[in-house]
Amino acid sequence: MRDWMVRWTGRRMPLAVAGALSGLASLAVAAPEPAAPLWPDGKIAALTVTFDVDGETVWWEDPATQKAPPGSLSHGRYGPQSAVPKILELLERHRLRGTFFMPSWIAETYPEVARSIVAAGHELGAHGVRHESPSALERDEELRLLRESREVLQKITGATVVGYRAPSWALSDSTLGLVAQEGFLYSSNLMDSDLPYVHHEPRGLVELPVSWVLDDAAHFWFDEESWNKPLVSAASVALLWKEGFEAAYEEGGYFNLTLHPQFIGRPARIKMLDEFLAWTRGFPAVWFATGEEVATRVKEVSQAQGAKRSKRER
Ligand SMILES: [Zn+2]
Repeated sequence: MRDWMVRWTGRRMPLAVAGALSGLASLAVAAPEPAAPLWPDGKIAALTVTFDVDGETVWWEDPATQKAPPGSLSHGRYGPQSAVPKILELLERHRLRGTFFMPSWIAETYPEVARSIVAAGHELGAHGVRHESPSALERDEELRLLRESREVLQKITGATVVGYRAPSWALSDSTLGLVAQEGFLYSSNLMDSDLPYVHHEPRGLVELPVSWVLDDAAHFWFDEESWNKPLVSAASVALLWKEGFEAAYEEGGYFNLTLHPQFIGRPARIKMLDEFLAWTRGFPAVWFATGEEVATRVKEVSQAQGAKRSKRER
């Protein structure tokens, strides 16, 4: 549930869009006050580029044993070892700050990689200890791992971690409550909105929504069990993302890319990402931001609207 529906100085049919987003047409239609701009400084749409630096952890048969065939582990290792340096170079060239979600095992195993991400000015977010799916955990264990994952990331890099993305987006019924309870600013896990929003329950937690179409793994993941799945060209994915970005821009919306270094880092794909990001610069009013910046902004707009409402009700 969301606490409020973003209303903005959108360029076309904001009420209809808001109604479609929420499924609560009455809420959108009942809004009498002037629309508040969601994005700062006259920006029309926002774009976040996020990376899930999973490395070997997604190839283990079980996080406890860390066992997998050497070939599979090498595919995972490609991420932190070979792809992250290329990604950092690309982001620097584009003057873009990304958001990197990382299991704390990766930071422990590749501390220089984790530190290089933070040193370059990017955001680091929590993503489990060994990429455990919260949906498979008891509540106490989930809480223990959530705390450990953040503490280790912060200790190794000196960064302050405020964002949480569940491994495989596999939330349990407890996850969002625990994330809010532990003081995280935002979650980036759900697919129920085009725009970021503030949860009503747990109150105050910001959601930066995701989608499979904007996840490189959906297109590029391939392993020995994927023989019935066609390999797709980077160009075809670029087409999907361009369509998605254009539509989001027209709606005054939000475009949240979820990338995995071990998939997007391959030469043809990182070249496509390079060209895609350059293409988005052709739009005049895009806010290129980190997850933390978007979540902070959304929370501020929400609080300002809440204050306005309660003043009116007094
Ligand atoms: Zn992951």
